[in-house]
Amino acid sequence: MTVRIDEARVFQIIEAKKPKLVFVNAPGGLLRQTKDLMERVKAKYGVDSILSGDSCFGICDTVDDDVEKLQADLALHIGHNAAVSEVGDYTYLVDAVDDVDFGEVTDTAAKALAPYKRVGLATFSQHLHQLGPVKEKLESMGFQVKVGSGNNLMLGGQVFGCDFSSSFPIRDEVDAFALLGESEFHAVGLALATGKPTFMLDPYMNEVTDMRQAAEERRKRAVLSVYKARDARVFGVITGLKEGQKMSGRSRWIAKRLEMNGRKVVRLAMRDVTPERLAPHREIEAFVQTACPRISIDGFTFDRPVLSIPQADALVALIEGREPGEFLERQKWIELTVGLIKK
Ligand code: SF4
Repeated sequence: MTVRIDEARVFQIIEAKKPKLVFVNAPGGLLRQTKDLMERVKAKYGVDSILSGDSCFGICDTVDDDVEKLQADLALHIGHNAAVSEVGDYTYLVDAVDDVDFGEVTDTAAKALAPYKRVGLATFSQHLHQLGPVKEKLESMGFQVKVGSGNNLMLGGQVFGCDFSSSFPIRDEVDAFALLGESEFHAVGLALATGKPTFMLDPYMNEVTDMRQAAEERRKRAVLSVYKARDARVFGVITGLKEGQKMSGRSRWIAKRLEMNGRKVVRLAMRDVTPERLAPHREIEAFVQTACPRISIDGFTFDRPVLSIPQADALVALIEGREPGEFLERQKWIELTVGLIKK
C-alpha cells in the first residue's frame, strides 16, 4: 500500500487553529496511517485526539455534529478528497494520495480499449493526480481522451460511489470509460450510471477488467428488487442520519407517494442500514432507504427488498402505471448534502 495522508496540511491546521482536542475520522483502509499521524501530532504539538470508531465509507461520513458533543475543537476527515476543503463549523478535509504508478497498467489497458477510439477517464480520490499522466499516455497511443469537469463538490474526473456528475455529462462524447484504481464499487457504479462499457485499471495487479458483466448483474438485481417491492403492502422508509445524507425531504416525498397508492408506511431513521438493524421490523415487507444507495445496489444480504432512491423512483413509477426506464442511468443516485454545508 502506498497511500500517503497529507501530513503537511494537518500540521498547518494544528499550527493555525491551536486545538487542544481533535476529533478524527478515516476510512477503514487508512486507520493505521491515521493513528500513526495522530501520534506524530501528539509528539510534535502535544495535541490529543479521539478517533471515531464508527463506519466511514465516504465523504458523507463527516462528523462535524459530534465535535461539540466531545468538547473537541475541530474535526479532521481523512481520505475523501473533494473540491471543498472545509465543511460545517469545525471540519477540515485532509487528502490522501496513492503513489502507485499507472504506466504499466495503461499499457495493458491499450489492448482492451482498442475497439474504443474515444475514452473517458475517471477515478476516485486517491488517484486523481494520475488522470493527467494516464491521459497523456493514452493520447500518445492514439486514443481521444476526455476527463469530465469538476463541480461544487467533485474534482475533475472524480467519482464517488453515488455521484457520477463529473463523468455523466461526457458519456455521449466517449465510447467507453476507464476507471483508474482497484475498486469494483466505483467501476460498476460508473458503468451503471453512464450506461457505457467501463474498464477497471488495477495498477497493483496490472489487471484490466471489463465491468459489463458485473454491472449487468447488479442492474438485474436492482430491477428485481423493485418488482418484488411492488407487491409489498407495508413499507419501511429509512432516512440516513449521516451528515452528508440528510435526505428527509426525499424520504417524506417517497412515504407520501406510497401512502397515496394505498401502502402503509413506517418511517425509520438510522446511521447504518444493516440486515441486523432491519431484522426486528418483521411486519415490514419492503424498505426504501434514502441513505447510501450502495447499501441497496451492492447489498447482497438483505432478506427483503431494500430500495435506494433511484429504485424508489422506479417503484413509484411502476405502481402509478408509468414506465420506470433505465432508472440507474443518472448523474447522482443521492444528492449529497456535504457540499452545502461548506464553511
Ligand atoms: S452515500 Fe455516497 S459518499 Fe456516502 S458512502 Fe455512499 S457512495 Fe460513498
